[in-house]
Parts: sequence; structure tokens; C-alpha cells
Amino acid sequence: AAIAPADLEKLGVLGHGNGGTVYKVRHKRTSSIYALKVVHADSDPMTRRQVLREMDILGRTDSPNVVQYHGFFEKPSGDVAIVTEYMDLGTLDTLLKKNGTFSEAQLATVARQVLNGLSYLHAHKIIHRDIKPSNLLVNKNMEVKIADFGVSKIMCRTLDACNSYVGTCAYMSPERFDPDRYGGNYNGYAADIWSLGLTLFELYVGHFPFLPAGQRPDWATLMCSICFGDPPTLPEGASEEFRSFIECCLKKESSERWTASQLLTHPFLSRDPEHC
Ligand code: ATP
Ligand code: MG
Repeated sequence: AAIAPADLEKLGVLGHGNGGTVYKVRHKRTSSIYALKVVHADSDPMTRRQVLREMDILGRTDSPNVVQYHGFFEKPSGDVAIVTEYMDLGTLDTLLKKNGTFSEAQLATVARQVLNGLSYLHAHKIIHRDIKPSNLLVNKNMEVKIADFGVSKIMCRTLDACNSYVGTCAYMSPERFDPDRYGGNYNGYAADIWSLGLTLFELYVGHFPFLPAGQRPDWATLMCSICFGDPPTLPEGASEEFRSFIECCLKKESSERWTASQLLTHPFLSRDPEHC
């Protein structure tokens, strides 16, 4: 049976996003725990559009590495809400802040799962467009799942305006800023791979790659270093396989970047114990 608002009891707040709040909720009859993302009636039209888009995309997806969708409802007040599975360890961003940087072995596990989710999405013509540590959820089985499809895009026949200005600027790929220069054979999917490369890099070094530790992003400087600088390189001590994997994700020219399914065959991932 579909989940109704009256079935759910709020247990606490899991996080706040643009215009919405995510609650931990319990289903009163089954005692199952879920996450409930609520966007209030008085929020701006763009936020409402985003939550509807997210519902549309989550409703079409079924992958072990995409957060599972359990329902959607609109209250008489006009509030809209999405019910998804609850991920008890939160995001990779909170794990980084809590436990410190990730080892290569842990990152191989993370990378394999995110790539599995991305190859599913890309095969279904969905571009996430906002891959970053705070949009990747984790549970205590160390399952990693892609969440937050508010700015994602379903590709149509044409290679249309998938370079419109969405997503978190810092994780945006060079061809999103400058398609003429870096967008040979531009199709949008490669942008998710760039963002994944930066995400893994950040989880390894503990800070956003283009900025020294502790520095707050300044938009103009950041855009210049992404477009005109060389891609960031890992510190000494990183293995050859990891270095090569990150290079394959962070090719500035989008057509040279590996695809999700190509990366799934990269030797870096054969360290992941679950690979065998
Ligand atoms: P942002 O603008 O920060 O990306 P958002 O409005 O797009 O936020 P989400 O990213 O979906 O919203 O969720 C906000 C936060 O709520 C997440 O960063 C996470 O901490 C928490 N959260 C979201 N979904 C879940 C879930 N299924 N299980 C546990 N925590 C969750
Ligand atoms: Mg988010």
C-alpha cells in the first residue's frame, strides 16, 4: 500500500537543503524507518520544480547504488514530500568530517559503487549533474548510494541544453564552463565522471582539490583554475593505480574522460575486496 502522510511519525531532522528539510521518520504500522524530504508550500517555484523532478527520476530508477524511492505525496497545505530509504551513516561528507580521510581501499569500494550507480543512470539517459560528497549516502553495511536528483536531467534525442547552469559550481567540469574548448563530442554524461574524480580526490586529501586546505571557495578563482589550470594531481604516496584512475576521471577534454563502464574495469577497482 502507498505510504500516506498520516502513517509517518517524525523522529528528527537529518539535514537541510535548498528550501527543503529531510526528516528521519517511522512508519507507524510497520515500524520501518525512512527519510522524508519535505518542501514547503511557500518555497520558491524552482525548489518545487526540483522536488518534482527528483520524484520523477527516483520513480524510474532501480539500482542498488541509487537511493531507493518509496513514495511521494502532496499535503492539502501544498507541502510536497518524497519518501526514500533511510541511510543510517549519512553522507560521505559527514563521514569525512567525522572519521577523517579515506584509505585507497575504502575509496575503491566507494568508487565501484558510485560507478555502478552512474553506469545505471547513464544507460537510462539520466545525468545526475550534482555528484559530490554530500549527495552520496552511506549505510552501516558500507553501501554507497547516489541521492539528490534535484538538478538532474533526462536526456532526450537531442544534445540540448545539458550545459545549463545547475549543480554545485565547485564540482562542475571544464566543459560545463567552456564547451567550445573542452567539449569535443559533448554529451553531458562525462560531467558526472569529472565530479566523481574530484569527490574521490577530496575524500583522500580531506579538502576540495583546487583549493588549499581551509580556504573557502572563491567562485572566479575556482573557475579559472578549473578551466585554465592543469587537473589536480594526487600527493606523493598515492599508488600508481589510484593516480591513473583519478587521471582518467579528470581529463579536461570531456571526450577523453573514461565512461562509467570503462572505469568499472580500471585496475584500481580490483583492490576492492567485493570485486572478486
Ligand atoms: P543540498 O542543497 O545540501 O544538496 P538538498 O536540498 O539537495 O541539499 P539532499 O541533498 O537530498 O537535499 O538532503 C540534504 C541532507 O539530508 C543530506 O546532505 C543528508 O545529510 C540528509 N539526507 C538526505 N537524504 C537522506 C537519507 N535518505 N538518509 C539519511 N540522510 C539523508
Ligand atoms: Mg544535496
